[in-house]
Amino acid sequence: MSPEEEEVLLSEEDEEEALSARPVQIVVAHEDDHAFELDEAALERILLQEHVRDLNVVVVSVAGAFRKGKSFLLDFMLRFMYNQTSCSWLGGHEEPLTGFTWRGGCERETTGILAWSEVFVVDKPDGSKVAVLLIDTQGAFDSQSTIKDCATLFALSTMTSSVQLFTEYGRLALEEIYEKPFQTLMFLIRDWSYPYEHSYGLEGGKSFLEKRLQVKQNQHEELQNVRKHIHSCFSNIGCFLLPHPGLKVATNPNFDGRLTDIDDDFKTELVNLVPILLSPENLVEKEIGGSKVTCRDLVQYFKAYMKIYQG
Ligand code: GDP
Ligand code: MG
Repeated sequence: MSPEEEEVLLSEEDEEEALSARPVQIVVAHEDDHAFELDEAALERILLQEHVRDLNVVVVSVAGAFRKGKSFLLDFMLRFMYNQTSCSWLGGHEEPLTGFTWRGGCERETTGILAWSEVFVVDKPDGSKVAVLLIDTQGAFDSQSTIKDCATLFALSTMTSSVQLFTEYGRLALEEIYEKPFQTLMFLIRDWSYPYEHSYGLEGGKSFLEKRLQVKQNQHEELQNVRKHIHSCFSNIGCFLLPHPGLKVATNPNFDGRLTDIDDDFKTELVNLVPILLSPENLVEKEIGGSKVTCRDLVQYFKAYMKIYQG
């Protein structure tokens, strides 16, 4: 094939990619034999697209167990990415939420790592262009044997992301966090119901986290160690307290994500949270060993990390 032909093919592919943006499974966890598999072709189709492959990459990953509202949150993150310039990025009142919740191609209960097929190109205030990759990491916490798999999966997504959100409902289980070199770790505590003790948002989250990270004399040694270690692993740790989204979101099987069905408090905090993670001035580029990583490099790191965990 001549270089011209190749170019034409690539750009047609890119075009198609943009038209049919969707979640793509890049790591599959096989629960029967506890093996992980990287879909290298899928990863390469996403990260080696001509217009992004040489840009530094920002990898924002949302991790957590099944039904912790990851897709719900990611769909709002997508709305922000697609409507950056608009102050009404949150969307129309009656508009159903789409994106990672998209049913056609992705099994809802699949354990593994999903990436949004469209990599966003963003201009940072310093004039540089970065590529933003959104990732959904779903573990299963259902039996003893899957705890190790889950740890492996989260470690993998941690090592490959620059910002990781860890979703929890109403509590913070530090015991489930593993020792890996993070850049930014944000605990996202959902259904927070004590705003009079720690207010919603980043400030309340900070004071709550400080309290939870305190090392106390009467704590079990292991718990003390997790608390001591966490600071040496992450250059930046935050916590955000989100209110309950309302009963329609939590319990109505026909809820389709439209804003009218979501509590105002929740929407207010969502409008604060998403730009903290995704606005151009806040984007954190992925670094490994102190150097920034391009999309092309990230493919290699994914492959290398997979080997480590398979060995
Ligand atoms: P995922 O499996 O982690 O991707 O979870 P989903 O995004 O599919 O959400 C699972 C369920 O939780 C859905 O019924 C959502 O409407 C609901 N949900 C989303 N966010 C929240 C939240 O903050 N609190 C509660 N209680 N439910 C939520
Ligand atoms: Mg999901």
